[in-house]
Amino acid sequence: MMADKATLAVFKFASCDGCQLSLLDCEDELLAVAEAVEIAYFPEGRSRKLAGPYDVGLVEGSITTPDDLQRIQEAREACRYLVTIGACASAGGIQALRNWANVAEFMQQVYAHPEYVSTLATSTPISEHVAVDFELRGCPISKHQLLELISSLVRGKKPRTPSHSVCVE
Ligand code: SF4
Repeated sequence: MMADKATLAVFKFASCDGCQLSLLDCEDELLAVAEAVEIAYFPEGRSRKLAGPYDVGLVEGSITTPDDLQRIQEAREACRYLVTIGACASAGGIQALRNWANVAEFMQQVYAHPEYVSTLATSTPISEHVAVDFELRGCPISKHQLLELISSLVRGKKPRTPSHSVCVE
């Protein structure tokens, strides 16, 4: 069992924001179900940005820039449980199509000044960079599965939702 007020953080990487919208769509239910969840860090949701550590961290999006490489390490260190939400974070997403192409050629064709673009040659899932406790699949994710997973984690129970468990017993 965690402390009375479990804290939740939401981190965004390369994504369309659709999975975060699923979270915004159930914010009231989340508070009711978990009873004591405080959304401590959620920049896209315009919540307060409280410093970690956090009990549960949700990660949307894939790793596509050098800055992402640093940020995902910081997110991992700040969270007791790290959960990837959606196909982008769990598998690389549609942007992983770049993995079979030449990114430099793409940038030449798309940007007037590609020299100002800082990017990696690949789009990779979060689990390729840090340990992940759960992967919630979907594009976007199911808000009901998200609620069940969060409420289980903050109560110290193993989630029943069909997520891929990587670390939690
Ligand atoms: Fe958007 Fe789908 Fe990626 Fe979620 S998994 S951020 S809905 S593209």
